[in-house]
Amino acid sequence: MLTKAPRGTKDILPDEINKWQFLESEFRKICDIFGYKEIRTPTFEHTELFLRGVGETTDIVEKEMYTFNDKSGRSLTLKPEGTAACARALIEHKLYNQSLPLKLYYIIPGFRYERPQAGRLREFHQFGVEVFGSDNPAIDVEVIGLAMMFLKGLGLEDLDLRINTLGCSKCRGNYREALKNYFSFKKESLCDTCRTRLDRNPLRILDCKNDDCKQILGESPKILDFLCDECKDHFEKVKRLLYSLKIDFTVDPMIVRGLDYYTKTVFEIISKDLGAQNTICGGGRYDGLVEECGGPHIPAAGFGMGIERLINVLENRGLLNLPQKGVDIFLVVMDEEGFETAYKLLFELRGKGLSAEIDYMNRSLKGQMKYADKLKAKFAIIVGEEEIKNNFLTVKDLSNGEQRKLNDKDLFEFLFNNIRKGCC
Ligand code: ATP
Ligand code: MG
Repeated sequence: MLTKAPRGTKDILPDEINKWQFLESEFRKICDIFGYKEIRTPTFEHTELFLRGVGETTDIVEKEMYTFNDKSGRSLTLKPEGTAACARALIEHKLYNQSLPLKLYYIIPGFRYERPQAGRLREFHQFGVEVFGSDNPAIDVEVIGLAMMFLKGLGLEDLDLRINTLGCSKCRGNYREALKNYFSFKKESLCDTCRTRLDRNPLRILDCKNDDCKQILGESPKILDFLCDECKDHFEKVKRLLYSLKIDFTVDPMIVRGLDYYTKTVFEIISKDLGAQNTICGGGRYDGLVEECGGPHIPAAGFGMGIERLINVLENRGLLNLPQKGVDIFLVVMDEEGFETAYKLLFELRGKGLSAEIDYMNRSLKGQMKYADKLKAKFAIIVGEEEIKNNFLTVKDLSNGEQRKLNDKDLFEFLFNNIRKGCC
């Protein structure tokens, strides 16, 4: 127990952190280009927020939340997703009084009690964006376009963008009834979970992964036949804008998403090679959420993208082979006296913004050179008896073995010219 992380959680080790930092920085860059500002909300929220915001009949609320009472008996929940917390912050700080739309992004851990497997963790991480304040279909497409540009920029080409619409509460209500009616005649073919969904949330049956359920979906009523004129028009505009941006997509009437707050556009971005957990990104419009959480009527759209799944896909395709960063300088020390001189120099170099390392493990000279090699050092500076006596330093270019003797003053000039120029 003591030496094992909890089931479904993962350490991100120093060896792999460069992938995370790279993706985070690329995501921040694209959000910046699109004019999104970062928001950081707490790791836990009042449980009620998710009951309201995510929906009591969703899988997340019914069985996946990490909910606990704190010492004063308050019920709190570790964030299972990012949108509800953004809506809560928007309401609490009246962010809707700023000029709209309000465009937000975040990088968060999410917590869901799920059966751990590839691409499905109990603590996972998400990139997300949310846009509040506009019901313009161009916002739906901006959000999709941001996700697609980000993923394409990482080298992912064959992605499958699937879109659908769930209509507004009115068309969705009619559709729910039609689905209930249809499935109630096929009750015996539904899995246990879907039988309970029949009354509470029949739309989720469309999303079921069970083969028996999948078989009876073919002839089920389709949302597209239940749309009111406004929702139809909205969906048409979304499609037109996607065409005009040359973003390929498929309309998939089976996409309903796991969260209750979606209205009108919903979408998923699927990687063709990820197996069962192949949805990298999911999102859509949720015009009713802010009101549902106790705020004014503020239409909104956004997405969540699973970082672990993204890393899996990129790695499978060899798109995440990042060069390992090397250290600029390694200080090679011969003896105790040399160590003190070198140690001072180590801090001087670091103070000037160069990355420098020294041996702390009493390695032999050969061991130190090997270690320098492992650290991918560009230069070694040798601080030996002769160097100290005659007030110079030996600098060895580790890429070609060239050695030169330099005094203090020339040393920095040489290093700046050769390191900063070559590496940045
Ligand atoms: P799925 O059913 O594919 O797990 P979802 O509908 O539950 O997805 P969302 O709530 O829309 O997922 O979250 C957005 C994205 O976050 C998902 O597309 C996925 O990439 C990622 N994600 C969701 N749950 C997990 C999890 N348990 N582990 C890892 N990633 C996850
Ligand atoms: Mg899920």
